[in-house]
Parts: sequence; C-alpha cells; structure tokens
Amino acid sequence: MISDVAVSRAITEKYFEKLKAALELDVAIVGAGPAGMVAGGYLAEANKRVALFESKLSTGGGMWGGGNLMSEIVVREDALPILEDFGIRYETAEDGYYTADSVHAAAALAYRATANGLTVLNACRVEDIMYAGDRVCGVVFISSPVLAAGLHVDPITASARVVVDATGHPAEVAHVLVDKMGLELRSPTGRVAGERSMCAERAEQLVVEKTGEIYPGLYAAGMAVAAVHGGHRMGPIFGGMLRSGKRVAEMIIEELDGDE
Ligand SMILES: Cc1cc2nc3c(=O)[nH]c(=O)nc-3n(C[C@H](O)[C@H](O)[C@H](O)COP(=O)(O)OP(=O)(O)OC[C@H]3O[C@@H](n4cnc5c(N)ncnc54)[C@H](O)[C@@H]3O)c2cc1C
Repeated sequence: MISDVAVSRAITEKYFEKLKAALELDVAIVGAGPAGMVAGGYLAEANKRVALFESKLSTGGGMWGGGNLMSEIVVREDALPILEDFGIRYETAEDGYYTADSVHAAAALAYRATANGLTVLNACRVEDIMYAGDRVCGVVFISSPVLAAGLHVDPITASARVVVDATGHPAEVAHVLVDKMGLELRSPTGRVAGERSMCAERAEQLVVEKTGEIYPGLYAAGMAVAAVHGGHRMGPIFGGMLRSGKRVAEMIIEELDGDE
C-alpha cells in the first residue's frame, strides 16, 4: 500500500537537504540557458559546490526553439568538443557548420550537467545580490510563483564565493549592481551597454572574449556578456553561448583553486 505521507516526507526531506546544501556555495549561477548549463556542468565536474537558480520550471533557456521555432541549432567547429563532452549528437551541414536538434541539445545539457552533480533550483528567481566588502558574495532568491502572484513575501539568500550572471539578454544581475547599487561595471560604459544589431561573426567572438568578471565576485556568461559589453546579437548560432559557459567555468576554477 502506498503511504501518501511517506511520499510527501520523501519529497520534503530530500528537497530541503538539497536547498540547505545550496545556501553556502562556491558558485551561484543565475539562469539555466545554454551558457549557464555548460558552466554548471563543468564546475560540478570539477567538484565545486555549485548551484544554478532558474526562474522557470525547465532548464535550457532560449535553446529549445532553435531559430524561429525550427528545432535545430547551429554551431561551428570550435564548439564541437563541448557537444562531445555533453553527449550532444550533431550532423554536418555545409562546410564548417554543424547542426544539432535543439530539443535533444537542451535535454542533453540538462542530463550531463545534473549527472555531473549540478544542483538546479528551478522556479527560483534571483531578484537581488548579497554584497559585502566591495564584492558580490551571494544571491537573493524567491519562488517564481510568489512573484507572479504579487505576494508580499521576503526572499531568502545563498552565499557564494562567485556569482555568474547567465540570465541572457536582460543581464538581470548586472542590472541590479548598476540600477540598485549605482556601481560601475567593467564594461565600456560602466553600465549595461545593451545589444546591437545582428552580426554573428563579431557577436560570437565578443561573447567568448569578454566572458569574465564584470565586478568583483560577479562574472557574466552567454548573452549577458553581449548585453553588458554592447555586443551584436547573433541569432540561433549557439557555439558562442556554449564556449562562453566553458570559459567562465575555466576562469572560476582557476580563481577558486588559486585561493586555496
Ligand atoms: C525571446 C528570445 C529572444 C532572443 N533574442 C535573441 C537575440 O536578440 N539575439 C540573439 O543572438 N539570440 C537571441 N535569442 C537566441 C538564444 O536564445 C540566445 O542567444 C541564447 O539562448 C542565450 O543563451 P544564454 O544561456 O545566454 O541565455 P538564455 O538562453 O536566454 O537563458 C537565460 C535563462 O535565465 C533565466 N533567468 C533570467 N533572469 C533570471 C533571474 N533573475 N533569476 C533566475 N533565472 C533567470 C531565464 O528564465 C532563462 O532560462 C533569443 C531567444 C529568445 C527565447
């Protein structure tokens, strides 16, 4: 016979175990798009205490829909090692271009990253940061349905040695620093410069090159990099997102290992 209470007890005990472990982190990633998931997958593989906060129920961000709801993504050769690390099948299109089914790609990222040990707290919206000693030192988050319902409820916090803004176009964490705290980012304008029109070649290059720390304790990855640095948009070519996620993980691993 199934005990209804045993089911509820199993869920609550396991969930709160997971939540408690996520309250003191090496790395808090905000946003489960391709950049955040790749970063989280590599950081978990390197045995860092890492959790990812995603405001929606599902991971994958803007990847599921490919281009204009045609469920294929495109990458170039430089992203193939990442597809292989995450077990994403791909095919050759024309010379130098490769395609992957976007649903398979988003699902494979979710599988590999969580199998590596990444904790994803879904339906958790990061609405603020923790700040001490002139650096970002954690995130303030709340259940997304609480916000959607407009309930007057306080959020809770998770400390982290490093926070990653992987929120995509809105660059929400970077905006908190600028708009709420009046702080200057390491960007051309000191603010969130905003995206420019389509130019995939420049966009992919900038997103990877400029991936990095934009304020002490805060890194940007993925489209948030384009938003912060005023890069071009790139459309449904995803290699830059994946490579940015890998690069931010490598930079953070180097920083954390250097501190130890
Ligand atoms: C509506 C839309 C518009 C797009 N426009 C462009 C474009 O202009 N140019 C372009 O090159 N590509 C565009 N894309 C294509 C592509 O989606 C992105 O380039 C790519 O998905 C970005 O990857 P990412 O990992 O940086 O962020 P995303 O895939 O955008 O993922 C970000 C994730 O962060 C989550 N998130 C955001 N804020 C918070 C928060 N405060 N707390 C917790 N989670 C949060 C979101 O729910 C989302 O899952 C667009 C996609 C979509 C869906």
